[in-house]
Amino acid sequence: MTISIDFEGMIKHVHVFLRRFRVIEHGTLDGVKAIVVHQTDSPTAESTFNAYLSGGNGAHFLIDKDGRIYQTASLLKRCYHVGRLIKSRCLELTPNSCSDPNLAKIKALGWSARINEIDRIERQKPYPDRFPVNSDSLGIELVGRHIDDKSFEMVTSAQNASLRWLLDALYDSFSIGADDTFRHPAISYKNPGEAAGARW
Ligand SMILES: [Zn+2]
Repeated sequence: MTISIDFEGMIKHVHVFLRRFRVIEHGTLDGVKAIVVHQTDSPTAESTFNAYLSGGNGAHFLIDKDGRIYQTASLLKRCYHVGRLIKSRCLELTPNSCSDPNLAKIKALGWSARINEIDRIERQKPYPDRFPVNSDSLGIELVGRHIDDKSFEMVTSAQNASLRWLLDALYDSFSIGADDTFRHPAISYKNPGEAAGARW
């Protein structure tokens, strides 16, 4: 399925409502290589929009509980949605075959020093050797509240259907696929329940 994207990086499609917040855009994206799926920890779309007004963190899309898709930032612009430190793709996904000698040296470090060093090492690698970062990925937020240390509200079936539609459209537009789509806690140090209920 092909969607059209205008010169400003905004989607032109009847399923996508444009609600752009330029204050959450921070410079130019170096192309789109991956997608990160999030949950907002807010009760409504409107509460996230209110937070976006003051700038800072944000993502490119927001999917409301009724499945309505909003585009909240240009697809040409970088948003802060991944977080400051990324995990090691090699250590997380293929620990038994991860032979990066730099990563072998971090085992003696304490937790805080270790996650900082992992981030430094990983950022020197090209995608897909590492997880996505803000400069090469799009973020999709699903409206939903954080419940406790391990869980978030369920993703609604309308949200899931819209997420699948949007992912298919983005896969087609940027020649990427499901292998390039990650739940936020898989790549960064977040509540493990975030987006756990999302399926694609
Ligand atoms: Zn997130």
